[in-house]
Amino acid sequence: MLFRLILFVVICGLAYALYKKIQKQSSEKLDSSPKEPTTTEMKRCAKCGVHLPINECIQYQTLHFCCEDHKKAYLEDHSAGDDSSNS
Ligand SMILES: [Zn+2]
Repeated sequence: MLFRLILFVVICGLAYALYKKIQKQSSEKLDSSPKEPTTTEMKRCAKCGVHLPINECIQYQTLHFCCEDHKKAYLEDHSAGDDSSNS
């Protein structure tokens, strides 16, 4: 019964291939789960107007900035008139 033996080997091979495929898929699924796409709130830089995720921007009171330089520049711009002690 050579035919039955061949059939058995072929079925075993298919089952093994399927098992490997499922195993690979589940490991890939496990890999991609940590970086799940979460809806991130976008904030606008008060200095240059660029939009960036809230977790990446620098917050100052109710304002948001794309970088420390723009926060500093914005605060300097908005406190320029108060400099009366000089000259
Ligand atoms: Zn900016």
